[in-house]
Amino acid sequence: MTQNPQAMPDAQGFFGPYGGQLVPPELKQCMDEIAAAYEEIVKRKDFQDELAALFADYVGRPSPIFHARRLSDQLGGAQIHLKREDLNHTGAHKINHCLGEALLAKFMGKKKVIAETGAGQHGVALATACALVGIPCEIHMGQVDIEKEHPNVTKMRILGCNLVPVTRGAATLKEAVDSAFEVYLQDPVNTIYAIGSVVGPHPFPMMVRDFQSIVGREAREQFQTRHGKLPDHVAACVGGGSNAMGIFTAFLGDASVHLVGVEPAGEGVDKPGRHAATLSVGKPGEIHGMKCYVLENADGTPAAVHSIASGLDYPGVGPQHSYLKDIGRVDYQSVDDKECLNAFMTLSRVEGIIPALESAHAVAWAMREAPKLGKGQHILVNLSGRGDKDADYVARKLGL
Ligand SMILES: *Cc1c(COP(=O)(O)O)cnc(C)c1O
Repeated sequence: MTQNPQAMPDAQGFFGPYGGQLVPPELKQCMDEIAAAYEEIVKRKDFQDELAALFADYVGRPSPIFHARRLSDQLGGAQIHLKREDLNHTGAHKINHCLGEALLAKFMGKKKVIAETGAGQHGVALATACALVGIPCEIHMGQVDIEKEHPNVTKMRILGCNLVPVTRGAATLKEAVDSAFEVYLQDPVNTIYAIGSVVGPHPFPMMVRDFQSIVGREAREQFQTRHGKLPDHVAACVGGGSNAMGIFTAFLGDASVHLVGVEPAGEGVDKPGRHAATLSVGKPGEIHGMKCYVLENADGTPAAVHSIASGLDYPGVGPQHSYLKDIGRVDYQSVDDKECLNAFMTLSRVEGIIPALESAHAVAWAMREAPKLGKGQHILVNLSGRGDKDADYVARKLGL
């Protein structure tokens, strides 16, 4: 059975064979409640009007598309354009779905929003949205990550969220997820879980995609208006896959547009544990309540992953990406740490834009491909975030 990608997922949350709700019965009931509320509330005009107003006046949407002329000239091939999600309030695309989730919590009458965070990006965006909407927010974060990600921890505290340090096990993202779900299951009536990407059990892959799809709707219209045609290539980095689904969704029906998801090859896709190229070298499996491509050890446990961009090191990937790979609609490529660093520095020095290391993966792909393409070709890159958070790390690494 082939599904129309525009009409996905099905009622059970499947994108072809991927997605679903692989969770214990008590959690399935919670997810079904959120799915039902989503159907009922998010389609309502009062919800859509409030979200649209916040996108405009709070986030600063629409974000512009910038033609990177100097970079394109230097490469001597295709024209590179950047969808500037880095200019959003809080500096990345994550605010788009966090506002949607916080607003949904308010409309559902929830008393608290619970989530986990790895590097702290989701935590900061969610704490921001919850402060704005006026709902208490509780973020679980591994103790190891707390020590590594000081600026984000400080921001979350300033924004008034309750930051819960998780010390069990390896004290990183996985333990933070377990801890946050335990607390959520103690009171799913008054609380709601807010997932940070297009992953996890249904309805999250659909819901987060829908909140992010504003990026592609804007970009498609902006590009068409300015150039009288669509871009030839649209590229985005893929960790869980939310910024990529955000920009891809509007172009799925445009057969002429080559869609490219760029995964982190870390120190090389041939080095197990030293990359996070889930779609490029993983295989179908299960993780975090969904079926999707996964990177696994021989015994079926999730593999260790690495990327210079902490927002991309995840051993699973969104179920819709898994499906789009299988049907060949999206081309998944990878970029390693070195190429990413080079793109980070080049974009900074040639265009005066310091990108997030995550976004620099998509820029690196465009820099690799542009010289092979004609000057009349156009590549649109989703610049998912700004690189302030990465500046000190890169400067130390390169001895600047
Ligand atoms: C978190 C993050 C990502 C990765 O998340 P996706 O869900 O794959 O989009 C990419 N870019 C930036 C700037 C991020 O903060």
